[in-house]
Amino acid sequence: MDGVQILCWLAGISLTKHENVGSQDIFTVRNLPSPAWRIFLYQLQQEAPRPKRITCPQEMESRPKYYGREFHGIISREYADELLAGIEGAYLIRESQRQPGTHTLALRFGNQTLNYRMFYDGKHFVGEKRFESVHDLVTDALITLYIETKAAEYIAKMTTNPIYEHLGYTSLLKDKMVHRLSRGRTEPRRPIKLLASCPQISSPLVRRSALKDAPEKQCYYEKIHNFKVHTFRGPHWCEYCANFMWGLIAQGVRCSDCGLNVHKQCSKLVPSDCQPDLRRIKKVFSCDLTTLVKAHNTTRPMVVDMCIREIELRGMKSEGLYRVSGFSEHIEDVRLSFDRDGEKADISANAYADINIIAGALKLYLRDLPIPVITFDLYSKFIQAAKNPNADSRLEAIHEGLLQLPPAHYETLRYLMAHLKRVTMFEKDNLMNAENLGIVFGPTLMQPPEQNALTTLNDMRQQKLVVQLMIEHEDVLF
Ligand SMILES: [Zn+2]
Ligand SMILES: [Zn+2]
Repeated sequence: MDGVQILCWLAGISLTKHENVGSQDIFTVRNLPSPAWRIFLYQLQQEAPRPKRITCPQEMESRPKYYGREFHGIISREYADELLAGIEGAYLIRESQRQPGTHTLALRFGNQTLNYRMFYDGKHFVGEKRFESVHDLVTDALITLYIETKAAEYIAKMTTNPIYEHLGYTSLLKDKMVHRLSRGRTEPRRPIKLLASCPQISSPLVRRSALKDAPEKQCYYEKIHNFKVHTFRGPHWCEYCANFMWGLIAQGVRCSDCGLNVHKQCSKLVPSDCQPDLRRIKKVFSCDLTTLVKAHNTTRPMVVDMCIREIELRGMKSEGLYRVSGFSEHIEDVRLSFDRDGEKADISANAYADINIIAGALKLYLRDLPIPVITFDLYSKFIQAAKNPNADSRLEAIHEGLLQLPPAHYETLRYLMAHLKRVTMFEKDNLMNAENLGIVFGPTLMQPPEQNALTTLNDMRQQKLVVQLMIEHEDVLF
């Protein structure tokens, strides 16, 4: 036991490197066939000392109500040591002599008494992990201390030979991975053409048919896992390194999109190949764009495709399309039906005769994305681009920004801009041009990372201009 290990336990983190050599070389991961769940750490957890509560014979008046008989009041370190009588796993709580009102857990481990400052805020804790009872806290401490002392070297090496690719879960994705590697992005992005003149769309029909062909059934976007600290009930093994996830609570992390379970230290090594599970994706609206398209295996969110299809079918000549708002209750209704029925949502004229409801739902979808279509981290790049006084370099800068968008965002924007361009071709009827569509879609597609009234006001002109330019020059920008 040394200071580093104690600190690691306190911080609730696992050791990654250690010089402590045990006799467990026989267990090293190298020679084990894959996939095979590795039970060494599980066996160690079974061997870890169990907590032994040393109770106080007297009723202590100063005892806080969240402690039991393990509370001994103000006693010296030495006396506490005596009470623990050198028994591994023995523990008690004492009040500090120097700072009355603060409490210390005295715990025997590795033939010494360890002292931890205890805290309580409804749960007991000495570090990151929070426990219902002192008993649970001590159980977890003993497991963690025991495993990280006995198996430090093993833990340091356990990630070197992952079984991740051999698991059924990932083999399922393998074909897609190969595809993805050979193809890179869904479609090669075109280099920008010379922008001296602004070429007009050759024929709306040609563009339209090109777009109809473009959507692909499958998508190969990379997506990072959405790992959150997780408490597993019952024994669980890491799906990256195949080792047991030790501890009583918060033993590892789970991806809340696909359900992958791994050690915290392994989570940093897992490739960005998250394949969200539809059962875990509860909603369509307000769901991260990449997560949604991965879950549904589409190139773009189906909301965007379906709304645009419906609008192009029956709304292109509608006066004030996207500017006139539909009844908000009806828009809310469309949202609920997408969240409930996904691609089976009925947004036909039978269900919603007013096309402004569909246009409103599309705007709402885009506005409610947790990360806007033009992502937070690229926001200022686009705003700066719009401030460029030279028209050519302004477009170049926007194009540069577009190339940095995550693929699913890029595809969505490309599709939307081609659609808005077609909307402007009906300007005579719908009275919508790139400029007023820019006003409508600017704040929908672009939101500053830190929202305050002043930036919103300051950036409005640039937001509008970015969208206006993307519509006007969509054929060269995308
Ligand atoms: Zn995942
Ligand atoms: Zn692992």
